[in-house]
Amino acid sequence: MADLEQFRMTIAGKPVDAVSGRSFESTNPFTGETWSRIPDGGVEDVDAAVGAARAALEGEWGAMTGFARAALLRRLGDVIGENAERLATLEVNDSGKLYREMIGQTTGLGGWYHYYAGLADKLEGRQIPTPNPNYLVYTRQEPVGVVAAITPWNSPLLLMSWKLAPALAAGCTVVIKPSEHSSASTLFFAELVGRAGFPPGVVNVVTGLSREIGAHLAGHPGVDKVAFTGSTATGRAVAHAAAENLNPATLELGGKSPQVVFPDADLAAAANGVIAGVFAATGQTCMAGSRLIVHADVHDELVRLVAERASRIRLGDPNDPDTEMGPVANRQQYEKVVGYLESARAEGGVFATGGGPDTERGGLFVRPTVVTGVTADSTIVREEVFGPVLAAYTFTDEDEAITLANDTPFGLAGAVWTKDVHRAHRVAARIRAGTVWINAYRVVSPSVPFGGFKSSGLGRENGIDAVRAYTEDKSVWVELSGDTRDPFTLG
Ligand code: NAD
Repeated sequence: MADLEQFRMTIAGKPVDAVSGRSFESTNPFTGETWSRIPDGGVEDVDAAVGAARAALEGEWGAMTGFARAALLRRLGDVIGENAERLATLEVNDSGKLYREMIGQTTGLGGWYHYYAGLADKLEGRQIPTPNPNYLVYTRQEPVGVVAAITPWNSPLLLMSWKLAPALAAGCTVVIKPSEHSSASTLFFAELVGRAGFPPGVVNVVTGLSREIGAHLAGHPGVDKVAFTGSTATGRAVAHAAAENLNPATLELGGKSPQVVFPDADLAAAANGVIAGVFAATGQTCMAGSRLIVHADVHDELVRLVAERASRIRLGDPNDPDTEMGPVANRQQYEKVVGYLESARAEGGVFATGGGPDTERGGLFVRPTVVTGVTADSTIVREEVFGPVLAAYTFTDEDEAITLANDTPFGLAGAVWTKDVHRAHRVAARIRAGTVWINAYRVVSPSVPFGGFKSSGLGRENGIDAVRAYTEDKSVWVELSGDTRDPFTLG
């Protein structure tokens, strides 16, 4: 076995090992080999990171202007661009995602820092009139303080940046806890933050195998705000922990997003969108369009188109530019996906393609799967699989399509496919989800808010308003008259 790459945490600007000295190995899901060694931090490391973040807030960083923060954010965006290949390779090694997808993602990642740099120097307060002319009142937008950012394994750097870029623009300091399944890229990223010139302690990263460290961070009394992406079950625990400290929390959670296809849709375009929506990234995206709700008249034709292309998806080495779908990211997730396929079969599901593991090439591969013969009550329709599995079922009129689309505890995203412009907007308005695409799927941007209705989360990331999730408003009252009236008549 090749030598393992060694990574260290960043606390107070220094590369450090866990206080305990422990580490754990990370496995490449394609080769099955361990490739890196990650510090196995504990609560004492979290305490140190939170302390460093507090000290930075009270030190040089806290005194910087928004203009100075903007300059640092711009530099960080540039440094990320210069290191896009290395960052992409680390993501591929840890999660088995395609290099060609990851290089696109890491090349675009700097865009989040450039976008929020543009907001860091525009955090304006307001001057507010009151009924009493003796007062000048103005507001200040101040940083909320120390932010805990807890991220999942499926897109570590992107989902971290959705939190980190606005938090830094607002003047916060941050402690990041990446997933135990994919820590390497975030650990390397922290080095880039130092190279960009951020003062020590502004960005800290702690890693560890135990889920206890995430829990400790989410409920830490030294933290002022929690930003979390992950499963709905963990999100609920995080919300409780934040509430204990009366801290605000932004939660980006799971999804079971509908692709609603009307009979007048361009079926070839819809098929492409459906395929990209559920098989890209091996279906391991929160916004996966995993429910195909298709008009009965075009069901057979659309399922045929999707299944035919899905059956030809090239599985293989994530580093090979010809590969279209990589393995599932870790064994636990692989077993979960295979379990869902068995439950679909047991509940009467019919596989138009796929339906089980792909054992031809080793690695944790699952065949791209399209299940039909399911209903709105089937487990495969109700629960988030987080894998390359599409469940297709039918509707006959627009109201039924909406009812089916909304018949889910989730509300992250969805799409409507139709050429009828009236219907497109009508349906988009009625889908209860934070993002609806019309004749498109799976596009995101730093400038466009993203987040969930219902059990898919709380709050929004991205866009101008995301900075406000990291600021507190302060109202400042200034007495202008110099009045020295009796204290009991003031008001
Ligand atoms: P997860 O909930 O298991 O873990 C997420 C993170 O929380 C990890 O870093 C984990 O170590 C940490 N954690 C675990 N227990 C904790 C606790 N009690 N308190 C605080 N932190 C804790 O999720 P996952 O398996 O890594 O990711 C997959 C899930 O993430 C899917 O359900 C997916 O839908 C969701 N997701 C959502 C979005 C979105 O933007 N809405 C994006 C990506 C993934």
